[in-house]
Formats: sequence, C-alpha cells, structure tokens
Amino acid sequence: MTQREKPARLVVGNWKMHGGLAENAALLQDILAGLQAKQGARPACLVAVCSPYPYLGQLQQVLSESTVAWGAQNVNEHERGAFTGEVSVDMLADFGCRYVIVGHSERRALFGETSELVAAKAERALEGGLIPIVCVGETLAERESGRTESVVGEQLRAVLDRLGPKITNTVLAYEPVWAIGTGKTASPEQAQEVHAFLRGLVAQRYIDQAAGLQLLYGGSVKPGNAAELFAKPDINGGLIGGAALVAKDFLDIVAAG
Ligand code: PEP
Repeated sequence: MTQREKPARLVVGNWKMHGGLAENAALLQDILAGLQAKQGARPACLVAVCSPYPYLGQLQQVLSESTVAWGAQNVNEHERGAFTGEVSVDMLADFGCRYVIVGHSERRALFGETSELVAAKAERALEGGLIPIVCVGETLAERESGRTESVVGEQLRAVLDRLGPKITNTVLAYEPVWAIGTGKTASPEQAQEVHAFLRGLVAQRYIDQAAGLQLLYGGSVKPGNAAELFAKPDINGGLIGGAALVAKDFLDIVAAG
C-alpha cells in the first residue's frame, strides 16, 4: 500500500432477514444512545446499518438526524421496468439510503448472482448516487485448494472492468464465505493478506487511487476480535452480520473502529 491518504474507518451492520418494527426501534435506540454517550471520547468511525427493504422508511425516520447512515442489502441492476418484486436504486434513494450491499455471498450462492451481475448492480448504484458495498470472498474448498486469490481476483476484476476508475467510489468488502455466520474468523494476518492483494489489484490499474479505497473485512467480527482486525494496514473497517443485531456488540465493534 502506498503512503497516500487512508480512507476513514467504516463499520456497517448487515441485518440480513432479521428484525421487525419493534425490534428495530429498540436496537436503533440503543445504538444511538450508545453512540451519543461515547461522543467526544475519540474520533468516531463512520457507521451505517443495512436493513431489509420494508424497514428503510423506519431507518430514514429514526436516523435522519443522527450520524448513522443506512442502506439496503440488494438492488436491481435496471433503472426501472417490468421486474416484479424488484427494487431500484432510485427507490432506495427515495428512502435516503447512502449504501447498498451488492454481491453478498448469500446472494451469489443462494440466488445465483454472477460477478457480472454484481458489477452491473454496483454501476447502477453509483449512477443513482449510492455507494455500493461490493462483497467478494472465497469458500472453504476454494481456500483449501489454494484458489483464494484467483476467486476474489475474478470477482473484483469483473467490477473493475465495468467501473474503471470509479471503483474507488465504491466500498469493497472481503468476506470469506467460510467465516460468515460460522464463528470462524479469518485471522488478522489472513484477512490482511487478502486485503493487500485486493488493493494491489486496484493499484495495478489505478495506482493513485488505490490507497484511498475503503476495504472492509466481514466474517464473524465480534467485539473480541475487531480491534486486532481493524489494526491491519489494509483493513478499513468491517461489515458485521450477527453482532450487528446486538446493540452492545455493535457499539463495541464501532468503538474498535
Ligand atoms: C455478513 O453477513 O456480511 C457477515 C459478515 O456475517 P457475520 O458477521 O454474522 O459472519
């Protein structure tokens, strides 16, 4: 990594298909109260939460006056049209979303999303003024057969090919599939190695911008391992699943950011 300016730390909660109006209200209230109590103690990192679509209005209502940003977990790659059941970038923008997660491994594995589709979604998000959080990651079998770099490299290259230098307007999240929701975290060294590889790939094309790319780690991040992960030079924060549903855990991770 070059010595150019480092991006701000960012911690994003991915609520997945969890929550409900009452549950969300309580969680958000605790998060906001916790953040307020810590204000001034140290420079806070950027914080965001990504909820299921039906709760984006609730996030907008509750978080508008706060420092916490919000977003969705998926979006359609088209601007508008006959795509029953789908949601467009403009609709997310209507609800004040700043971020949208694209290419989460659950969407790639369970909904057949290809790297090309993920790249198209990322492009559409940028065109519509949202920041895509582009997820890449290898399975355990891929890691064990020594294919981590070729897999995450292919996933990133599809986005790089499509976005060109605009890649630096995205957030990239390295989420090893074997560490998501399993309690197994990549060691800080394992995560750093892949992060440095990903940043290096961007640097091969856009040397001046690569250092400023916000690169998050995701996969069983907890209060107990967040600080060590975030201390690595190429890790600029985290994408948090399970622990984002528990206010105290999420706040402790944010405090490590
Ligand atoms: C995720 O779903 O993006 C994730 C990282 O989940 P968890 O933190 O639960 O492993």
